[in-house]
Amino acid sequence: MKNKKIVILGTGGTIAGTAAEAGDNLGYTAAQVGIGQLVAALPALTDSNCELLSEQVAQVDSKDMDFGIWRALAQRVAHWLAQDEVQGIVITHGTDTLEETAFFLQAVLDPAKPVVLTCAMRPATALAPDGPQNMLDAVAVASHAGARGVVAVCAGVIHGAVDVQKVHTYRLDAFSSGDAGPLGFVEEGRLRLLRNWPSAHAEQAQAAIKTIASSAVGQPWPRVEIVMNYAGADGRAVRALVADGVQGLVVAGTGNGALHHALEAVVLEAQAQGVRVVRATRCLEGRVLPKAGDVLPDSQGLSPVKARVALMLALLASDH
Ligand code: ASP
Repeated sequence: MKNKKIVILGTGGTIAGTAAEAGDNLGYTAAQVGIGQLVAALPALTDSNCELLSEQVAQVDSKDMDFGIWRALAQRVAHWLAQDEVQGIVITHGTDTLEETAFFLQAVLDPAKPVVLTCAMRPATALAPDGPQNMLDAVAVASHAGARGVVAVCAGVIHGAVDVQKVHTYRLDAFSSGDAGPLGFVEEGRLRLLRNWPSAHAEQAQAAIKTIASSAVGQPWPRVEIVMNYAGADGRAVRALVADGVQGLVVAGTGNGALHHALEAVVLEAQAQGVRVVRATRCLEGRVLPKAGDVLPDSQGLSPVKARVALMLALLASDH
């Protein structure tokens, strides 16, 4: 009798995708197969030393991820983690926004047990799908004694929620942890760890779980948009956003978070009018290094999409 449980929460993605032709790895529809069916199709999962339960929280292509699903997911993860017999959670998710969901869950829950997001680059109907192995690896991580925090598992690599980023459009090993490097690897069901398990990035964000849990369904979240610096960036898009009521802006600057002087002038104007601004970089690696006299705060090493989530959570917490 297995006395520990792993809960597998389905949210959709390519891992649950189907194509008309088995050889088609591109012309498929994501989020078609239910989580119960995905688990049942993988008898090797029953080798886990934990009992497996599954629950469908959403069924979407993760390009369409939204705050309602995030709220429901955070609540279901919190619910299951509170049960003593639950050892860990696995979440099946599309690759497109996996890093945002991972960062969000880490920021709001800072779980003391493992919460493992996994995915696939090929649909479930592919001739050689990658989802089944990713799922087995994710269950191995979730069952590992001492594992904690939100991580992503893809192609045998374990990434921490704060560093993980999708960096490839097609390869099965589509994720990177950039400068930080991966947290470890899953090899034949065993973990080879290189770094510590993740812990929350922004303490400020912790308060957000309470407001997320208590905020009415459908209530809008703080509006935070991302704008990028590039040759000829003149800031007109920022003016339009401010006129439209944007509450926060993440600027994905060039290099060390630099902005075209025209864009910078408009962004500073927005900041003076009360819009919260955070400066990230459009570079895939490295972080914005602060220097004396900086007027725009940097993103503390977060990518633009994660800096946006952190800023939304900060605004959400300060609203309540
Ligand atoms: N568009 C898909 C999704 O994010 C891609 C994938 O899962 O690989 O749901």
